[in-house]
Amino acid sequence: MSAPDSTDSALLRELRALYAQVDALYSDWSCPGSTECCRFGITGRQPYVTSIEVTAIERALAQRGGPLHAKKRALPLTADVAHERICPLLDRQGRCSVYADRPLGCRTFYCERASAGAGPAREQLRELVRRLQELASRQRMGGELARPITRVFGD
Ligand code: SF4
Repeated sequence: MSAPDSTDSALLRELRALYAQVDALYSDWSCPGSTECCRFGITGRQPYVTSIEVTAIERALAQRGGPLHAKKRALPLTADVAHERICPLLDRQGRCSVYADRPLGCRTFYCERASAGAGPAREQLRELVRRLQELASRQRMGGELARPITRVFGD
């Protein structure tokens, strides 16, 4: 985990502002909180995170006392899914442990329900992604190249 610095802090403020815009765009959407989207074995996909999103999550985890240990993560629902891939940030209660700092992909309803809704225009979303990538590239060279969340935070 990298030490906080003032550049990161400034970029994180920009990231929070960007997240607020994303949340506003989706403000009339609702989520049943099934955490299905956090269970990658079900969805077959997972969010990819840029460097600045990783920094935001690392700080959120540090404030909670560090990364979740495997034992504190969510338990599989049935024996059938004992080896199910879940997000390493999903806690034992089935809640996102970094909800306020969850990455862009988790804010844009990439679940099946999302495909049925109207949602913001694709151009709006593309612009937000472009701004996120630009933020990450200002943090570090190549920071905009997003990586699977399990690769970054998995054991
Ligand atoms: S970061 Fe949080 S909301 Fe996103 S997949 Fe992981 S547990 Fe779910």
